[in-house]
Amino acid sequence: MSKENKKSPEKELKEKLFYNKKNVYQLIEDDEVKSINTFSEDYKQFLNASKTEREAVKFALKAAEAKGFKEYKPGMGLRSGDRIFVNNRGKALILAVIGTESIENGVRINAAHIDSPRLDLKQCPVYEDNEIALFKTHYYGGIKKYQWTAIPLALHGVVVLIDGTQVEVNIGENETDPVFVISDLLPHLASEQMKKTGGNIISGEDLNIIIGSRPFKSDNESELVKLNILSILYDKYGITEEDFLSAELEAVPAFKAQDIGFDRSMIGSYGHDDRVCAYPALRAILDTTGTPKKTAVTVLTDKEETGSDGNTGLNSSYLKYFIEDLAFEFGARGTTVLSNSECLSADVNAAFDPTFPSVMEKKNSSYINYGVVLTKYTGARGKSGTSDASAEYTGRIRTLMNKNNVIWQTGELGKVDAGGGGTVAAYIANLNVDVIDLGVPVLSMHAPYEVVAKADVYMAYRAFRVFIED
Ligand code: MN
Ligand code: MN
Repeated sequence: MSKENKKSPEKELKEKLFYNKKNVYQLIEDDEVKSINTFSEDYKQFLNASKTEREAVKFALKAAEAKGFKEYKPGMGLRSGDRIFVNNRGKALILAVIGTESIENGVRINAAHIDSPRLDLKQCPVYEDNEIALFKTHYYGGIKKYQWTAIPLALHGVVVLIDGTQVEVNIGENETDPVFVISDLLPHLASEQMKKTGGNIISGEDLNIIIGSRPFKSDNESELVKLNILSILYDKYGITEEDFLSAELEAVPAFKAQDIGFDRSMIGSYGHDDRVCAYPALRAILDTTGTPKKTAVTVLTDKEETGSDGNTGLNSSYLKYFIEDLAFEFGARGTTVLSNSECLSADVNAAFDPTFPSVMEKKNSSYINYGVVLTKYTGARGKSGTSDASAEYTGRIRTLMNKNNVIWQTGELGKVDAGGGGTVAAYIANLNVDVIDLGVPVLSMHAPYEVVAKADVYMAYRAFRVFIED
């Protein structure tokens, strides 16, 4: 060895003592790059087919049934190797593979959410103003309202008619479908608007969706544009204005998921938060071969973006009830099972954005292409609202990831007191389960079009798999 190539003692000591992160692409072989790209193509299909929680449940159910998962009915009797699911009102889903070990040793839970920020139609949404027909909306989740104007919107959801019939709506996704839009003010006349603060440039009551402009024939009645729209809706779906009272209709961006960059290393899409964790968690349990030691559970939940309340959110008891039912099948106590269980709370984190470095603390930010993010705690203002994983559990997951060559990083959501956020981790931890957040770094989180790196999506999939297969 020549003198030049020999490492200095300082360099050697640095390598031994310093924590050095590396880009995924500097650590993996060509065959793994291929796996990343294949997985990304599957993920894009899921994104385009599952823009709402209901559609995500449908997609997941179909895939699970194809892999032999059967609907679980309490008391049906279970044994190791059984693959089961519980469909919670079509908006949340639990999948499980019964393990070989005693249920009393606990289960392994991967929990992600399948709701995303969007615009919900109000109960009485339809109106006409100056011969333009519009929908009134109430936004769902944390959005920058101005981002939702002047982009194509699609309408998804269900309407329940007075006789109980459920009508499904999905319009704006096919090339030949019409789309909808919220107008914004032209810059020529926006001098007063542009003086407003960001949160008020577009107000909640300005988020009105344009749905038509042609009047119903020519006659002397008022509101003929609205009448024409209701007539079209009646012909197409059999619904009247009153039927909107029992509907869940969600306006979402009409964009398709697409590769970003000359190198195609990223994916742009609506709703990465949190489908970018939900899909890898789903695939992890579907792709598991053989029977795991510990019973594996994947939860795809609803209502995270509005605080996890409601009977399809994880602040409700539906997961606890499921674990209690499982325990009962084996003559065990649900509390014992929960107390011995472990969970990866699968949610996204804010990736370091070079355009907005001031809100980030570089040493503790997550970076795209640096692998899946392990987040010990979330919360805001002095760690409020977080479960804060223990050093012991964090250490266990760290060892597990390293042992299986899953590339991961740590990440805190922005600078201290710059803001903050929470996930479902705290609700599961409150059931006396060990929980840590693990997910994918996202650029432009909660925008109508978010960006993730393909390598990180794949590492999330690997993480969820090794967690349930270990
Ligand atoms: Mn999320
Ligand atoms: Mn979110």
